[in-house]
Amino acid sequence: MARVPTVTGMVETDQLGTTLIHEHLRNADEAVHEQWPIAGAVKEDEPYEVPPEQVFDIAVREAKAAVDLGIKTIGEPTAMFLGRDVDFMRRVSEDTGLQVLACTGIYTYDHLPTFFVSRTPDLIADLFVRDIEESVQETPIRAAFIKCAADEPGITENVEKVHRAAARASLRTGAPIMAHSRPASQTGPRQVEIFLEEGVDPAKVQIAHTGDSTDLEYIERLLETGVYIGLDRYGLEMFLPYEQRNQTALALLERGYAERMFISADSCATIDWFPHPVVEQMLAAGLAKDWDIRIVPQRVLPDLRAGGMTEEQERTMLIENPVRWLTGG
Ligand SMILES: [Zn+2]
Repeated sequence: MARVPTVTGMVETDQLGTTLIHEHLRNADEAVHEQWPIAGAVKEDEPYEVPPEQVFDIAVREAKAAVDLGIKTIGEPTAMFLGRDVDFMRRVSEDTGLQVLACTGIYTYDHLPTFFVSRTPDLIADLFVRDIEESVQETPIRAAFIKCAADEPGITENVEKVHRAAARASLRTGAPIMAHSRPASQTGPRQVEIFLEEGVDPAKVQIAHTGDSTDLEYIERLLETGVYIGLDRYGLEMFLPYEQRNQTALALLERGYAERMFISADSCATIDWFPHPVVEQMLAAGLAKDWDIRIVPQRVLPDLRAGGMTEEQERTMLIENPVRWLTGG
């Protein structure tokens, strides 16, 4: 049986179980927190702006909640610029029993350090390959997949370079790719095109955040290429309200796409993107609601079942697709 690397070691694929493919245990820019270790330390008991020493405890609390709701594994797409720290993931996993798949890759909408601007995609791929085959951050932990991103600025030169590096690392290792996309900017088709140009099997590609769109024509155009899609931002009302996410998911299930769909929330146990007053305003304005690791098992799955999702479709999306995507099935 195929095995995949988790942050606590190699696991046989039949042990992955119910998997949320896109959840973050922490989201914090590494440069900011390296330079200002106290950043984010404003008040205790503030939900989104917490002292650094509480960040771990909150990640454990969230991971435990997921385990209690029947989740066995998460894909943790915290790459460079989101504060990847695989040792942090390992400690959370050991404290909770939640299996965690770490990634390699770069999360950028355009900016790259000169270090990468001056290097070729192949040299960047070398670093990704090392994470996948040997060691991430000088730990025994290996990356299970490759992350890249395209957003509002589109496929800029730097973004294309990271996509090509991701593609080449995937070709060299067999590791799959998760590409953050922005349907509102129609980034998905061009992202897929780059991967296919590089020779990547579409069954190794997941276009994340496709579920931010209700445009079935756009979504089916992606699915026709053979890639997976992420319906993976439940709770982020600012991109698409909950009900519309479920309507789109049910329409796609009806059209027979269960084998290419992932359901997740892109939750972050903690996130440093906004100061606390802004978060309060955003919550008050309804821009996010129930946006946490619980939302899929607690709300989404029961609602999809009520809407007609079969047991088999649920099993396909939550248990079988992660294995097939990770192992190239
Ligand atoms: Zn994410």
